[in-house]
Amino acid sequence: MEHPVSLYNSLSRKKEAFKPINPPHVGLYVCGPTVYGDPHLGHARPYITFDLLRRYFKHLGYKVRYVRNITDVGHLLNDADEGEDKIAKKARLEELEPMEVVHFYTRRFHDAMHKLNNLPPDIEPSASGHIIEQIQVIEAIIKSGYAYETQGSVYFDVVKYNQDHPYGILSGRKVEELMANTRELAGQDEKNNPVDFALWKKAKPEHIMRWPSPWSDGFPGWHLECTAMSTKYLGNHFDIHGGGMDLQFPHHEAEIAQSVGSCGHQPCNFWMHNNLITIQGQKMGKSLGNFITLDELFSGNHEKLEQAYDPQTVRFYILQAHYRSTLDFSNDALKAAEKGLDRLRKSLKTLEDLEASQSSEIDLGSWKKKIYTALNDDLNSPIAISHLFEGVKWINQAHEGQLKISESDLKDLKAFMPLMVTDVLGLVAEPEENHGSDAGLDQGLMDLILNLRKQAKDNKDWTTADLIRDALSGMGIQVKDTKDGSTWEKN
Ligand code: ZN
Repeated sequence: MEHPVSLYNSLSRKKEAFKPINPPHVGLYVCGPTVYGDPHLGHARPYITFDLLRRYFKHLGYKVRYVRNITDVGHLLNDADEGEDKIAKKARLEELEPMEVVHFYTRRFHDAMHKLNNLPPDIEPSASGHIIEQIQVIEAIIKSGYAYETQGSVYFDVVKYNQDHPYGILSGRKVEELMANTRELAGQDEKNNPVDFALWKKAKPEHIMRWPSPWSDGFPGWHLECTAMSTKYLGNHFDIHGGGMDLQFPHHEAEIAQSVGSCGHQPCNFWMHNNLITIQGQKMGKSLGNFITLDELFSGNHEKLEQAYDPQTVRFYILQAHYRSTLDFSNDALKAAEKGLDRLRKSLKTLEDLEASQSSEIDLGSWKKKIYTALNDDLNSPIAISHLFEGVKWINQAHEGQLKISESDLKDLKAFMPLMVTDVLGLVAEPEENHGSDAGLDQGLMDLILNLRKQAKDNKDWTTADLIRDALSGMGIQVKDTKDGSTWEKN
């Protein structure tokens, strides 16, 4: 490949040159959502990060197969081995079939991803659709001697595994410390050791999501699905496994153990983890009152939000931080991102009609190189974006006649800028309302009506001006007169 890419590997804890196992193909697996609630801010960052990775690889000429699963079974409350299934609980509370819950929230998840302009994965398998494959992985692990059956459930034998292979290599944890820190909880008497984790659980009579298996009617453990589905669609040794940092332990650690335990080696060459989002310095949580769903963010309907934020503003804000740094959400930061995105979009518009000069005062080649260097350096989007703003400056200066750009440079710039902004960063070039959407039509009609009212006022035709204002009020639209003109808002 023309551009050598380095990625930070969470496993080796260093940046490494990326080489696909089977070039130009790249296998990318990313842990998907557990679909039992509305998609929230915590879903925005990993899926934007890996969407950028996928888009950039495609831009460089790789053929990416992006697999992202849907967790629809086996993810128990508190990520534990005991307790109720998250989806079953929601189904019980809402008196729905579990699959109604799954499909309802999957649709809402897809809708939010679409608004953020994340391209859909190439394959989106669900855990409940891969029970047979999961049973096969369990059988292989039992055969290797790293799992045991007890009372219809099957557990991964972490202690025995750790004697042959280090357990905890991804997160840096030690089994001895885990043993010392694990409190005995109800139900753990089934396990040889409290650090062991469930591969298959025998279902209690009240448990509705259940399948037959060689051990019992039951359901698979949460960690198992990703091993089964990544193997099925990408093979048992693929290029990149991604997810949020919160999944490193125990989820990804368990995936490594399951792969080594079933086929003798690591599942992938690279582990990539994005850092988490905080809200005004705090972790997001329902009990902290700062849990914000993506719908709330896009509509502004949450007490922590001062306004609605366009999904593209949210995307731009996330891309403005490196995926491995923490990212704090605040109204001020989002408003700044909104302004930045607006400048970027306006410059693309200006660029379209920009005219060439005889000579050039810019060094386009080294500028483009700087952008590639940034993205090749562990996907450093904030540095790449800061260089793009150098381009914005050029465009604005050239537009004002303060900078010369030659015809060939201008042609190159006109092709490269939108390519980077829309194809690679995945930002929609124009705000929604400019595409003739309802919002755009509303604004156009309101401008017309308010202009007519202004004419009436200028002619001192107060009766007509008041008639228009009252009629709008009757339709739920409030007009406010300010010294700079009139504004309007819907009730
Ligand atoms: Zn997973």
